[in-house]
Amino acid sequence: MKKIVCVALAAMLALSCAAAFADAPEYKLVCGIEENIGHQHDASCYTSWDELVCESTEEGHVHDETCYETVSFLVCGIELGRGAHSHTDECLAFSYE
Ligand SMILES: [Zn+2]
Ligand SMILES: [Zn+2]
Ligand SMILES: [Zn+2]
Repeated sequence: MKKIVCVALAAMLALSCAAAFADAPEYKLVCGIEENIGHQHDASCYTSWDELVCESTEEGHVHDETCYETVSFLVCGIELGRGAHSHTDECLAFSYE
């Protein structure tokens, strides 16, 4: 009902609607969880080692760093985004205080 009045007033008087909603109940977050995107793999989630990829059979060839490739292997066992939370209606509760 308030909304209808406000829209009508705004149309007629071009007044801000904000005042009309000043006593509207506030929403409060009750989930206690911060919004987050969940687990993101970082360097500590991987183990890595240098693997020899050189197939040179050249005589006198000495392996240098270009003969190795860094291989990374995910070891954290946590799927990307696990534990993610984004607030939904269920995270909110009315507060009349
Ligand atoms: Zn991870
Ligand atoms: Zn080599
Ligand atoms: Zn939430």
